[in-house]
Amino acid sequence: MQDVVEKVYEQVVARNRGEAEFHQAVREVLESLDPVIAKHPHYADNALLERIVEPERQIMFRVPWVDDAGQVHVNRGFRVEFNSALGPYKGGLRFHPSVNVGIIKFLGFEQIFKNALTNQAIGGGKGGSDFDPHGKSDAEVMRFCQSFMTELSRHIGPNTDVPAGDIGVGGREIGYLFGQYKRLRNSYDAGVLTGKGLAWGGSLARTEATGYGTVLFAQSMLATKGETLEGKKIAVSGAGNVAIYAIEKAQQLGAKPITFSDSSGYVVDEAGVDLDLLKQVKEVERGRVADYVSRRPGARLVTEGRPWDVPVDVALPCATQNELDADSAATLLRNGCAVVAEGANMPCTPEAIAAFQAAGILYAPGKASNAGGVATSALEMEQNAGRTRWDFATAEAKLAGIMVDIHDSCVEAAETYGRPGDYVLGANAAGFTRVADVMIAHGIV
Ligand code: NDP
Repeated sequence: MQDVVEKVYEQVVARNRGEAEFHQAVREVLESLDPVIAKHPHYADNALLERIVEPERQIMFRVPWVDDAGQVHVNRGFRVEFNSALGPYKGGLRFHPSVNVGIIKFLGFEQIFKNALTNQAIGGGKGGSDFDPHGKSDAEVMRFCQSFMTELSRHIGPNTDVPAGDIGVGGREIGYLFGQYKRLRNSYDAGVLTGKGLAWGGSLARTEATGYGTVLFAQSMLATKGETLEGKKIAVSGAGNVAIYAIEKAQQLGAKPITFSDSSGYVVDEAGVDLDLLKQVKEVERGRVADYVSRRPGARLVTEGRPWDVPVDVALPCATQNELDADSAATLLRNGCAVVAEGANMPCTPEAIAAFQAAGILYAPGKASNAGGVATSALEMEQNAGRTRWDFATAEAKLAGIMVDIHDSCVEAAETYGRPGDYVLGANAAGFTRVADVMIAHGIV
């Protein structure tokens, strides 16, 4: 990195000690910006880089709640309102025991550039809690969500900050959160949360959007080589919202996903994933991947290693950060994998990304390839503001158009800065310049 950029990174590390994931996300963006700053030195003036790496506001709060046995628990809640240059803060809420301020900051930082790439009027933010919804009853999840929203409601609003789901936060949690927000505010602000149920302001295609968008992005990348997804074998990780709908879209496009996973292991189903069964196990029964294997002849559960050990043409990491490391990258490359598109946020380690780029395969960072979720959330906000609802085909067509635009913006920016085919540079440069230009227009704020 050139001196001016390196100095900003060192400052981030010194000021945000112990926040390894945040450092990692900042480093990836700043490294990419080298050629951008070299070409447009004014971006380094007025401390623009220093400002963009500092959240506008960080909120941390106590979330007390009572379990079904009457026992009191205390979790920690977070909302990081990172950047509002382009619009209200926008980004999901994650409920997972691993959540801490560094994880929320990495996600919020990524979200700034992702949201800019969608070309919609949304700033970047993220939130969550170290609460673990696994194994909790609906009533416990409801009480937790109500307590969480009691504090969060002071900080959000349809024109201020609009949270959505992420790991551990799906339709059930968004429902409880919205119910409590409405009660506290005495106001039906449908646009305050996205990922809502269809009967109360949700958008068709929002549930599917992140997974569908990731596969559509992979399809656009393949098209640059004159190829399609038809007949390609795919390894998917995760078995949540993103993974399930990535598998669905891949199947629609003629590909054959053969793996998925959760924290108990991964499943290999060489005959191709039985999506109805997977949805039944994960969405309806909230079960584990082993429940799929017990009902699917020929499928096997592997509890050691990662789905990346299975020979495939395409890899779609859709679970969590740093789930695909240098060893997994080497295995994928050895087995002939030619496309990696991130459905999760930062699932590939820096070493894995370097290996993909050195090998010259198609690699897309999550802030570009998984942006379909937040893009469709912005479409949900648009429908809420207009008190209207589009049909599935309309919402999906808009999503598809946005994914092509994001892909093309990345390609164009990578070419502009002299590294054709580098989607990391392309996504970071295109996202950054959109936000930076507006920050400059707004003055020192
Ligand atoms: P879900 O909670 O629906 O599913 C997450 C899946 O990943 C589960 O199968 C879970 O398994 C697995 N997983 C999570 N953490 C770990 C871990 N530490 N080790 C192993 N497996 C793990 O979340 P989503 O599908 O919504 O999110 C997945 C990823 O996609 C995240 O990185 C998220 O930030 C990103 N993303 C999501 C968007 C959305 O619209 N939902 C938008 C853009 C990005 P288990 O149940 O065993 O924990």
